[in-house]
Amino acid sequence: MAEAAYDLAIIGAGVMGLFTALFASRRGARVLVLDAWRIGDSRAASYSLTRSVRNDYLDPLYARLAYQARKLWLDFQAESREPFLIECGCLNIASASVTPALSETYAEQSYRVLQGLDLKTGAFDRDGLHARFPQFDADIGRLDVEAGFLYVPPITQTLLAGLRAARVVIEQDTRVQQISRRQGRIVIDTSAGERLAERLVFTAGLGVNDLLARTQGCDLQLPLRPDRPSESKYFVPPPERRELFTPERLPVFAYLDVGIYGHPMLQGKTPGVKIGYYNPPDVRRQVTRISSVLSFVAECMPQLVDARVLDVEGADQCSYDLVADDNFILGPVPGLPHLAIGTGWRGTGYKFAPLIGRTLSELALDGKAVEDISRFAPQRFVTSHAG
Ligand SMILES: Cc1cc2nc3c(=O)[nH]c(=O)nc-3n(C[C@H](O)[C@H](O)[C@H](O)COP(=O)(O)OP(=O)(O)OC[C@H]3O[C@@H](n4cnc5c(N)ncnc54)[C@H](O)[C@@H]3O)c2cc1C
Repeated sequence: MAEAAYDLAIIGAGVMGLFTALFASRRGARVLVLDAWRIGDSRAASYSLTRSVRNDYLDPLYARLAYQARKLWLDFQAESREPFLIECGCLNIASASVTPALSETYAEQSYRVLQGLDLKTGAFDRDGLHARFPQFDADIGRLDVEAGFLYVPPITQTLLAGLRAARVVIEQDTRVQQISRRQGRIVIDTSAGERLAERLVFTAGLGVNDLLARTQGCDLQLPLRPDRPSESKYFVPPPERRELFTPERLPVFAYLDVGIYGHPMLQGKTPGVKIGYYNPPDVRRQVTRISSVLSFVAECMPQLVDARVLDVEGADQCSYDLVADDNFILGPVPGLPHLAIGTGWRGTGYKFAPLIGRTLSELALDGKAVEDISRFAPQRFVTSHAG
C-alpha cells in the first residue's frame, strides 16, 4: 500500500515555518515540519530573547502589513500563559549635531508615513522629549505608539503547544537531500528517509537556495545575501537608575540614520538594555560620529555611560537574509506547482510572522493569498533563460 502523504510539508522550523504549520493545521491539514537543526537553535534568527514590533517603516506597504500583523499577535497572545507583547511604543530620535537635516531623518520620514496611515503617533521637540523620556539627549523624538517588542520564549512555547495539539509532526536534525515528484506527489528524500507531501513550503531563511538547488526541475536561485549586525550589547544600568530603563518608562528606540536600535530591559528576563548597531537595508546610512554602540550611548543616552556592558550572544549574532531589491520574497515558485517560498526578511521579519504564516498557509492550501503580495513574488527573479 502506498504511504500516505502529508497535505503540507514545511522545510525550516523558525518562526515563519511554525506559524505556517499552525495556520494550516488549524484548517485541518496534516502537516510535517522538517528542520536541519533543532528548534530553538541559536543559529536560527527566530530564537532570540526579544524582537521589535513597530509600524514605522518608510514604505507604507510594510507599515500597513506590520500593523495588521500586530493584530494577529494580540490574538495569538490570548493563547499564551504569559503575555509576550510589550506595548511600550517605539521612539525614533535624531539630533542636528549628528544628522543636521532633521526633516530628512528616518524619525521625520517614518512619522509622516504613520500619519498618512492614521496610526497613533507622538511628536516631541528637545524639551518635550527631555520631559517625557529623560533617558535621551536628542533634538527630536517621534513615537510610534502601537509598537513595542516581543518577548520570544513564550511565543515559541505557545507555538509548540499549538502544534502538538494539532498533531503536527516535527522532524528535527533532518537534512533534505533531494526533492522530486512522483505520480503528482512531492517526494522529499531526507537523512531520515523518504517523506511524501501534496504541497511544500520553504521557510529556511538563507538555506532556501540550497533547497531550491536540490529540487528537481528548478533552476531558480534567489539573490539572498547574509549580513551580520556590526555590534549588539546589553547595558546594565546601576540599580538606582534601572527603573528608568524598563518598558514602563522606556520605549523601544532607534536612530536608524546611524544604524542604531534598542530595547528596554525586562527585569528578570533580559540582562539589560539591548542596543544594536547595524546596516539598515532601507536607509542610506550617514557617516557621523556615531560609529558604534558606545559612541551612540555617549552622544544620545548619557545616563547609560556608566552601565556595565555585556555582549549579546545567541540568535542576535545571526545573519539577516538581505535581498538584492530589498523586498521580502513570498509567493509560489514559478513553474513548480504546489511549492511556495517565504524568505528574505531583511532582519525585520519576526514582527510579520503570524501574517506571513497565515499567507503561506493560504498559498499552500488555496493556491492564492488574501493579502496582495504581488510585490514579493519570487517570479521577479526568474531570468528569461530559466523559463
Ligand atoms: C540580529 C537580528 C536581529 C533581529 N531583530 C529583529 C527585530 O527586532 N524585529 C523583527 O521583526 N525582526 C528581527 N529580526 C529578523 C527576524 O528574527 C527574522 O526575520 C525571522 O526570525 C526569520 O525567521 P525564519 O523562520 O525565516 O528563519 P530562521 O529563524 O532563521 O529559521 C530558519 C530555519 O530553517 C532551517 N534550515 C535552513 N536551511 C535548511 C535546510 N536546507 N534544510 C532544513 N532546514 C533548514 C534552519 O535550521 C532554521 O531552523 C532580526 C534578525 C537578526 C538576525
